[in-house]
Amino acid sequence: MQTIPRVKGTQDFLEKGLYQFILNAFHEHVSLYHFTQVSTPIIEHVELFKRTLGTFTDVVSKEMFLLQSAESKDNLCLRPEATAPTMRAFLQVLPATSWKVYSHGPMFRRERPQKGRYRQFHQINTEVIGSSSISQDALLITMLDRFFQENLKIESAALQINFLGSYEDRENYAQLVKVFVDGVQGICDTCMERKDKNILRIFDCKNPTCQKIYEDAPIMIDHLSAESQKEWEQLQTELSLLSVTFSVNPRLVRGLDYYNKTVFEFVSAQLGAQNAFCGGGRYDRLADELGSKKSYPSLGAAIGIERLMLVLEPILDSLALPQPKPLYIIMPLAAEQNPLALILADTLHAAGLTTDAFLDGDSLKSMMRRANTMGAAYALILGESEQKDNTVLVKNMMTGDQEAIAQVDVVSYLRK
Ligand code: AMP
Repeated sequence: MQTIPRVKGTQDFLEKGLYQFILNAFHEHVSLYHFTQVSTPIIEHVELFKRTLGTFTDVVSKEMFLLQSAESKDNLCLRPEATAPTMRAFLQVLPATSWKVYSHGPMFRRERPQKGRYRQFHQINTEVIGSSSISQDALLITMLDRFFQENLKIESAALQINFLGSYEDRENYAQLVKVFVDGVQGICDTCMERKDKNILRIFDCKNPTCQKIYEDAPIMIDHLSAESQKEWEQLQTELSLLSVTFSVNPRLVRGLDYYNKTVFEFVSAQLGAQNAFCGGGRYDRLADELGSKKSYPSLGAAIGIERLMLVLEPILDSLALPQPKPLYIIMPLAAEQNPLALILADTLHAAGLTTDAFLDGDSLKSMMRRANTMGAAYALILGESEQKDNTVLVKNMMTGDQEAIAQVDVVSYLRK
């Protein structure tokens, strides 16, 4: 019988040291900015994403993992992103004050897998719900920039920003783009389809011919209303004031429909085609789209953990990754010593020492080999004579020195 392989586009994490380091570092960092942690379910109603991300976005039209069951008529799916679920949770609770929250966990999109692009991937999400001030955008971007630069010591990253204006600005701009596209020839079939359904998505097209044509397309930031123009300038001034280095990418629109005003991405040349490891922006109407009577202007960002790990791989030495604690292995020489091994292990665990016990009756030679492979610091051997004398044979795996120690003294001996 063949073994069952991993599902296409998913990964097994066999070592989560770096993953956990990122989460811990982020937790510490965002606590300083007064973010608190929340968690929402992995399954949601499909409608949540249809209403918010846009029916014609790739995520909703092609990439949803839909859940169907014979008994239930619920139209459920695995979440493709976390902003809409977080807003749903906010509206369900309607707390008295605005929210500054973060969460992390798996997201699911049926994309074509490649390096840095998976069908199950993991994100850290931050959301600021209930603030219309553009200064809040500057604060969120600065928080992320400091995290990448100061905490994770990433030097290869670049921050790109753009401003989509108000929803009205965007509508007017979409009309201008439509006139432009009507006047050109040679764009691909996908772009032709996008032209009718969701025209600003054409700028996501990777086809070189299309990209060349769009170089002459009108640019959003050239067509902002006076009020939007003021906010756009304010954002850039405040980022500069805080010494956040950025470049303006006038073609940055991001893949989901709910954005307005600020959009941004942190990119790294190290990542190749999928070069963004964090993206976000403002979504002032998301609450309204979910049926809220009151408006909650908001903003947020998502960090792709797998991509961040790829960016960090070459600079791991510069990070203070936690070193594993010394490992103690208890080795009963026969099944008769297993109960004593359990008691000794319990004592060591209670003393906060990382301890494992080999309980399967293997030979001493093979247990030693295994302990060596695991990088154990000490082996604690329990044979018939040790059991009789209430001792343990403690062997230093580095030097090979060994000494019989009274069982009651083992913890203090190891602590020395
Ligand atoms: P988005 O939710 O599309 O705004 O993406 C936010 C971030 O999530 C991106 O910048 C990526 O780092 C990451 N991301 C998005 N899609 C994928 C994917 N299919 N595989 C891995 N990471 C992804």
